[in-house]
This record gives sequence, structure tokens and C-alpha cells, in this order.
Amino acid sequence: MFVREDARETPVLGEYEVVVLGGGPAGIAAAAAAGRAGRSTILVERYGFLGGAGTAAGLANFCGLHAKVHGEHRQVVHGVCDEILDRIQRMGGLAQPHLLFGGRIYAQAYDISAYKIAADELLLGAEVKMLFHAFGAGITKGQGVESLLVETKSGRGAILGQLFIDCSGDGDLAAWAGAPYEVGDGEGNMLYPSTMYRIGGVDPQKAGNAWEEIPRLMEAAEAKGRRFPRKKPIVRPQPNPSEWRANLTQIRNPDGSAVSGIDAEQLAFGEVEGRRQVRDTFEFIRSVTPGFERAYIADIAPQVGIRETRRIRGEYMLTEDDVLDCATFADSIGVNGWPVEAHVAGNVDFVFQRRPKGFNQLPYRMLVPAKTQNLLVAGRCASMSHGGQSAARVSGACFAMGQAAGTAAHLALKAGAAPREVDTPTLKKVLEGDGAFLGDDPEEKK
Ligand SMILES: Cc1cc2nc3c(=O)[nH]c(=O)nc-3n(C[C@H](O)[C@H](O)[C@H](O)COP(=O)(O)OP(=O)(O)OC[C@H]3O[C@@H](n4cnc5c(N)ncnc54)[C@H](O)[C@@H]3O)c2cc1C
Repeated sequence: MFVREDARETPVLGEYEVVVLGGGPAGIAAAAAAGRAGRSTILVERYGFLGGAGTAAGLANFCGLHAKVHGEHRQVVHGVCDEILDRIQRMGGLAQPHLLFGGRIYAQAYDISAYKIAADELLLGAEVKMLFHAFGAGITKGQGVESLLVETKSGRGAILGQLFIDCSGDGDLAAWAGAPYEVGDGEGNMLYPSTMYRIGGVDPQKAGNAWEEIPRLMEAAEAKGRRFPRKKPIVRPQPNPSEWRANLTQIRNPDGSAVSGIDAEQLAFGEVEGRRQVRDTFEFIRSVTPGFERAYIADIAPQVGIRETRRIRGEYMLTEDDVLDCATFADSIGVNGWPVEAHVAGNVDFVFQRRPKGFNQLPYRMLVPAKTQNLLVAGRCASMSHGGQSAARVSGACFAMGQAAGTAAHLALKAGAAPREVDTPTLKKVLEGDGAFLGDDPEEKK
């Protein structure tokens, strides 16, 4: 059943050279790069703060900034990302990197409020207009995308742009623009979402290395018939050691499939189911873990954490083999050192790189959607296969992709060319000049 809406005139809210949809790591880096290059830039975000899943889904932890390179843990994502880290650090909100998965890879915990402020300050410094509480709702088309339509508290409006960068995570803008996309693994399975939460009031001395003990306690309880949403729980201290993050829920529909982040009914169901799992798992942890006796749920993330929805098909699709074989690309714009992390029913499957080099390059072509003219895409909805995205969707690679997309937007506008015509040697030179690591270091060619 349908209703017919009245045709209407939509007010133009502004006109920008670069319009970025979404304020996660990809959107932050894209807007910062375009703004700093002198382009009038707007970033449109549905929430009232930046950080994307890193804040709105409560991750509180950066993955993919580091790789294990020939046996040595190294930070491999730089550029805009370094400035975010420095700003968070100056607020005392950054922990030292910690080892995960039996010492195989580093991750780095941060304070969510510090990340929000750091991102605000970065974009203010880059003279980016931030339009918060604005939900991207569609586009108008001219020669390519003409405007992004947004719904706000003050009504619907249109934002005119010359070049658009889709950093929505869900590929909303690219899908409206007619770019082809895939969802899931080809058999309808998407990575499962999780609702993240943080536990406050932990006694750090007493808790010790409880992150090793909690999975064992859960396993022992399961052997006696207790059920948890998934195996391989992550419960780790944050920069303030009395606060721990919990990444251990798994949000399934009643039929067992993954809740879809692009289905309103499923999302609504998932929020309630997520909070139910939070309560259930927290009560278990508090009741069995020394040091957690006086703990409480400090925060349930504002939204269920969505790992995968649309993956836009671009000029190149990064594959799982590219990740595992540490692929190199002539048009590299950054690197990913995170392993394949597949959230499957009831579990998380990790597959690590098959080569000691420890990271793959990310080709510029994965940011250029097929069948579009004035559009780039960056972040977890960029052109990756299901397996490739299971690795390169984490924050580190998203920062790298975002910075490259913002820089490429500037170069495309400068040349009066489409994104697919951007001169990649020039793009690489500018990115390196701005501090990015592209993985071309001769040392890495060993
Ligand atoms: C539960 C969970 C745990 C994870 N754990 C980690 C971890 O520990 N470390 C790590 O590095 N990565 C982790 N990841 C992965 C990682 O956080 C994300 O893949 C990454 O944030 C993707 O970045 P992005 O910029 O592409 O998109 P997102 O971070 O998803 O940001 C997209 C932004 O766009 C906005 N947006 C979307 N649609 C619209 C619209 N129509 N209008 C306006 N705004 C819109 C959203 O509000 C959001 O702010 C995890 C993911 C999940 C779900």
C-alpha cells in the first residue's frame, strides 16, 4: 500500500564543493582532508557528534591502526589519524596499545568523550561545516548527483555539491545515486551486529587480568548449560582502568539471521534484543568476576553496532585473498593490517595474514563507485568483497580511505575531472606529503 505525497519545493540549505555524508572515521578524515585542501566542505551526520560506530556504537577501541610487520608490531595508519590520536592523548583519553587474540595484533582503547571532542576540534580547524541532526534522505540528480536531501528538525532541505563522498557506512548515498552494490556473502549472511557496553566501578587491582579469566568462566558456564550470545567475548579495561568495555553480544533475528542495519523493523528489534543481552551478560560477569562486585553498566551504546550492510561495487573490489596475501597495488592510498574477523552465528572466526609482511595495500579504485560521475565512497561500505570487508572495515583502514577520498575530491575538482580520472601518482604524492603511510616503503618490499 502506498500514499501519494504532495510535490514540493525544497529549500537549498547551502552549496559546497565537497559534501560528505557520515561522520565516522572515514567521514572525519575525508572532510578534514577536503577542508584543509581549501575546498568548501560540509559533513552531514544524523547524530549530534562525530565518531560513527566508534562513538555511536560504543566501540571505545581502535583496530587496524597497527599491523604485525615481519614479526614487529608497528603503527601503519598515519596522516589525519595521527592528529586524532594526538588530540585524544592530550585529553588523557588514549590507552597504550594492547595485544589481542593471543598476542597476534595490537588495538588501542580510547575514551569516547575525548574522541568526540577531538573530532570536533579537528574539523573546526579544517573549516568544515558540520551539520548535525541531519538525516540524509535522498538525492536529486543532474549531471551526476546534484544535491543531498536531508531531514532535520527545521524541515527538509537540499545541499548542493560538486563532489559527494559517501561515508555513511551503509552506502546510502551511493545506492541512491544508482551505484551497484552487494549485501552479505552471496547467500544472504551478513556479519552479525553487536550492542557494545561499558562497565564502570571495576576494582582494577582485584580484577587483574580478568580479560583472560572472563572467557574461561563463560566457557565453563556454557559447559554446564548456560548460554551466551557468542563465543570469544572481549572484556577489556579502558584508559580509566575502573571502566571496561564489553564486546560480546550478537544480535540475531528470531529466525537466527543477522539483524540488518538497513531494515528499520529489524533495527528496532535489535536495539531491544541488544539491551536484553547486555543485562544478561553483565549480570553473569558481575556475579563471577573478582573485582566486579561493585560494577555497574556505565553505558549502553546509543545504537546497535552494525558491521556490514551495503558494500558498493567500485572500480576494484578488495578481496579476502588480497588481505591474506598482503596484496600490493600501484594505486595504493593506504594499508590494512587487520585480519579477517568474521562474525558468524554464535562465534567470531579470525583468519590472519598468510605472509609476514602483515598488511595489504588499499587501491584508490575501491573508493570509486561504478556507474557514477561525481561520487566517492570510503569506509566500511567501500568496494570490498564480504571477506575483504571483514578485515578492512575497522577504524584504521577507514581513516586511510577517508583521507584519500577527501584528497582525491580536491584533486578531481582542481583538474575538472571525474574521480575515476584522478592522477593516482599525484594523489599518492599528496597523501605522503600529508603524512599518510601507503605501504610503498622499500623496507616493506622484503
Ligand atoms: C560492535 C562493533 C564492534 C567493533 N569493534 C571495533 C573495534 O573495536 N575497533 C575498530 O576499529 N573497529 C571496530 N568495529 C568496526 C568499525 O568501527 C566500523 O566498521 C567503522 O567505524 C566504520 O567506519 P565508517 O566511517 O565507514 O562508518 P561508521 O563508523 O559506521 O560511520 C558512519 C556514520 O554515518 C552516519 N550516517 C549513516 N547513515 C546516515 C544518513 N543517512 N544520514 C546521516 N548520517 C548517516 C552514522 O550515524 C555514522 O556516524 C566494530 C564494529 C561494530 C559494529
